Amino acid sequence: MDGRPLLLYPSLRMPSQFDVAIIGGGPAGSVAGSVLARYGRSVVIFEREKFPRFQVGESTIPASLDTLQRIGVKEKIDQAGFLTKDGGEIVSACGGARAKFFFRNALNPRWKTAYQIDRMTFDDILLRHAQSSGCEVREETRVESVEFSADGVALHCKGSPTPTRAAYVIDCSGRSSLLANRFRLKESFPHLKKFSVYSYYQRNSKSNDPEDGYTRMIRGNDAWFWVIPIADGKISVGVVMDLERFNQLKLSPEEALNRTIEEQPEVRKWVENTTRYMPVFATADFSYAVRQLTGERWILAGDAAGFIDPVFSSGIYIAIYSGEKAGETLNSVLTDPGQTGVAYRRYERAVQKRLASYLKLSSAWYTKEFIEIFLHPREMLNMVAIVNSVLGGNPPRTLRERLVMALFYFLVYLQGRTGKLVPQLTFQPEAPRAEEIGARI
Ligand SMILES: Cc1cc2nc3c(=O)[nH]c(=O)nc-3n(C[C@H](O)[C@H](O)[C@H](O)COP(=O)(O)OP(=O)(O)OC[C@H]3O[C@@H](n4cnc5c(N)ncnc54)[C@H](O)[C@@H]3O)c2cc1C
Repeated sequence: MDGRPLLLYPSLRMPSQFDVAIIGGGPAGSVAGSVLARYGRSVVIFEREKFPRFQVGESTIPASLDTLQRIGVKEKIDQAGFLTKDGGEIVSACGGARAKFFFRNALNPRWKTAYQIDRMTFDDILLRHAQSSGCEVREETRVESVEFSADGVALHCKGSPTPTRAAYVIDCSGRSSLLANRFRLKESFPHLKKFSVYSYYQRNSKSNDPEDGYTRMIRGNDAWFWVIPIADGKISVGVVMDLERFNQLKLSPEEALNRTIEEQPEVRKWVENTTRYMPVFATADFSYAVRQLTGERWILAGDAAGFIDPVFSSGIYIAIYSGEKAGETLNSVLTDPGQTGVAYRRYERAVQKRLASYLKLSSAWYTKEFIEIFLHPREMLNMVAIVNSVLGGNPPRTLRERLVMALFYFLVYLQGRTGKLVPQLTFQPEAPRAEEIGARI
């Protein structure tokens, strides 16, 4: 023996080819890569698809804009011609109540608008930006497994006989969650086992609606719908329901989408006079948390670190936020490995806090009383602005904000117990009158 430590994986004693390897070139991976490359770190991004690739999720919130500006990509996004999003509207399917929320009415808003995006273009801009920032991007390259050792990682890719070595790996593989699955870290939420069916429609004539840029969430009895306008008269429309309910329908995804839209006048009016230009997609979008986001030589970001129901458009924001934080964290760890524990703890706290905030909101969304309170806003203690801020991606910062949010959830609880704080809603559309049915036949 020459006194050197025994090697766990002899093949890994070769020097790392990269400081960081990233699995997945979605928003989380592209942002993490851009951050690290801008610090001069050597980064490789593995992406199994060829970009631009399809991905669902068109509605964004303003909280991502600071990161996009910091990594120098915001200007490219501004020039891409996406629709400006001022806020959203929540509507009860019975038609009796609706409430708009505007990002400009949040507490001290830094950004008053966000974007309604076409994901193919948006994700492609982010990945190309990572490339032009200095990342090596290997598309159509699927990572199949990761080997860990004391001094690095080796990534084995489909079709490649030799592994790629890096000092650290960031798993940004989205809901495939390569590492969280391998380490069995995922925990699902039984009350959020949802199923989505969705597609894309082209308006047949130009709309003059000044409120075209809003995301609309229409809450039915056992399902809710999104209507998201995208640029050039395109609209994304989807329905989310319990998986069990979808199975009971015994319909194909296309039949289920058509049937559920047809039953909801508040949704139907958006697809009248449009032509569907994409197939109908179906996705099980089960929310899940991940118990641990960091470990020896690895870190998780984006959907790979947790996925919360899409109702409040939080996914892209969490991906961009955690992508930036993961990049910052590994940059500081590469500079000073002695700080790993502190840096990892800080990362876990920041990301889990945001996921928890959206988990609470999304769980509340599926209760009748939350919608009833939300659709009858009453101004007190600046509650509307504070709730708006939380929806915009800013968890309560001060004690006062935390207390006001606690009061908001208390009012929701009281409404659930008494049903007397605000008018109750049925979420059931009125049966169409005979002449309306005649007009549609
Ligand atoms: C029905 C539905 C509607 C949604 N609507 C919205 C919305 O309106 N607004 C919003 O903000 N969010 C929405 N989301 C969530 C949003 O789409 C995601 O949160 C977001 O895409 C997460 O980004 P990401 O980079 O973590 O993962 P992804 O965008 O999924 O990117 C992961 C990438 O990793 C690649 N990959 C996976 N495995 C491997 C591998 N082994 N090797 C190499 N590459 C790999 C994939 O090809 C993919 O390109 C919605 C989600 C669903 C299911």
